[in-house]
Amino acid sequence: MRVNEIFYSLQGEGFLAGMPSAFIRLAGCPLRCQWCDTKYGWDEKAGANYSIERIVKTVQQWPGKFIVITGGEPMINEDLPQLVQELKAADKHITIETAGIAFIEGLACDLMSISPKLSNSAPDDPALAAIHEPSRLDISVLSKLVDEYNYQLKFVVDSQDDLLEIQQTIKQIPNVNPEKVMLMPQAVTRDELLAKSEMVAELCKQTGYAFSQRLQILLWNNQRGT
Ligand code: SF4
Repeated sequence: MRVNEIFYSLQGEGFLAGMPSAFIRLAGCPLRCQWCDTKYGWDEKAGANYSIERIVKTVQQWPGKFIVITGGEPMINEDLPQLVQELKAADKHITIETAGIAFIEGLACDLMSISPKLSNSAPDDPALAAIHEPSRLDISVLSKLVDEYNYQLKFVVDSQDDLLEIQQTIKQIPNVNPEKVMLMPQAVTRDELLAKSEMVAELCKQTGYAFSQRLQILLWNNQRGT
């Protein structure tokens, strides 16, 4: 598999924030979000080739059972089912971080961490926007992910004006449990995170959705591999 990087850190976001976890960042993402903090993961040829056996061996050097498969967009990788199967056989707890744009059936994944992309993720560059806009949201894929997997739905909030779009998006997906919805501040740097957190916290209080912290930004200012 083409692997961008494998590293050990704390899960920064979602309901498992704070859990020491091994991160497997697969290469390749077809979206081009304006505020993407892993642009180095877009190219499907980024990184190096790893056998699944080598990936499993690499993550076993660290304590704990939490594994995060991320990207890029891991759900477009055809070898993902086998990787998940081998990690499960090694008794790991598996989170898959996805934008919810592709569906794979029957993954032995413990948590599908879905982050649907809102219009606030549109790139400024018109050429990139033309790639991004038609692919960023697929309600039928989101519905299948929510129905098939244990999930969390994380929305990136850039301003309070995003709330209406978030609520409209949730309304289109049948069977969403509001207790699994999280709002997190759009931020690439610690300063941005601190500046937007209070606004997002107020939206959480208003709606009942959970606040998702972003520890990787708060603690390490989003340095690569942290
Ligand atoms: S979906 Fe995720 S990895 Fe892909 S461009 Fe958007 S933020 Fe970056």
